[in-house]
Amino acid sequence: MTVSPRVVVLAGGVGGSRFVLGVRAALQARGVADTGAALTVVVNTGDDLWLSGVRLQPDVDSLTYALAGVNDAERGWGRRGDSERVNHELQEWGAGWPWFTLGDLDLGTHLARTGWLREGLTPTQVLERMSHRWDLGARLLPMTDAEVDTVVVLPDGTRMHFQEWWTRHRATLAPAAFENPGIQGAAPAPGVLEAIAGADAVLIAPSNPVVSIGPILAVPGMRDALRAALGPVVGVSPIIGGKVVRGMADVCLTAIGVDTSASAVAGLYGARGGAGLLDAWLIGEEDEAAADAVAGLGIRPLVRPLWMTDPDRQAALGEAALAAAEV
Ligand code: GDP
Ligand code: CA
Repeated sequence: MTVSPRVVVLAGGVGGSRFVLGVRAALQARGVADTGAALTVVVNTGDDLWLSGVRLQPDVDSLTYALAGVNDAERGWGRRGDSERVNHELQEWGAGWPWFTLGDLDLGTHLARTGWLREGLTPTQVLERMSHRWDLGARLLPMTDAEVDTVVVLPDGTRMHFQEWWTRHRATLAPAAFENPGIQGAAPAPGVLEAIAGADAVLIAPSNPVVSIGPILAVPGMRDALRAALGPVVGVSPIIGGKVVRGMADVCLTAIGVDTSASAVAGLYGARGGAGLLDAWLIGEEDEAAADAVAGLGIRPLVRPLWMTDPDRQAALGEAALAAAEV
């Protein structure tokens, strides 16, 4: 009988989804029958927002749709085969944001979620309920039940929701800071600390370090839990060959004074042997020269293929991360 490891992944949306699909596939390949019991994903909720009266959870939904196999992989967000009739109508009313598309099927998700929130369910309970529709093969937990939406602060003091900065302005406005108002008073969602404490491995997905993993780590108690975890903490670099693979993580890293390189992101997370989080860090074959710098930080570097461009590569990366954690 296969002994099922307990694995926790910290993840954002699209990069996070690809990695979680890979970890799920790697567990399946190892003969784990119930990956839903073995795999817990702690999801960034910093991207969440209220729009046209409904609560959007972009990273939560990206993960749900990807695990369910109903995501639009080509476009990178939303549901495959979605239409935009309601969105068009909202725009005729001048409601919402003209540059932010809400698909019809996606709106069904947001309406269901908002209804349950209004009935008094917590975000954790709503996500648990939403996870029943499909066989996701993973347990999704929001990082927190508190509303701590990411705000971008510009050098002149202008503040805007992360989604406006990212989608409307395409991250072209140089940010001075990213904030999650209220996060100091937030707590990890129920089950998060227990999952980390009991995990055989904690994996940090190659998600945006600043606006996807950053908010998760900013929830009070999260860093201490990772540092105290019995299992190894293994991260995967979102930077390959000194470049972001997709998205605008370089702008985010620059804003907080971190180079767009595999070793600089390792330095941002830090070594668990020091004041940081990582035991091991997977870097791309293109970044082999950075291995010494990573080792110099007190983090074990592992050079592996990091591209997640198809299911086989995703599964191989998932397996490499599990192996790095020695599970
Ligand atoms: P978002 O929330 O949808 O923006 O997605 P995430 O934050 O989860 O992931 C975005 C990050 O994924 C980007 O910074 C990319 O560098 C990274 N990424 C995307 N595809 C790949 C890949 O194939 N390999 C690796 N290592 N990183 C990737
Ligand atoms: Ca995101």
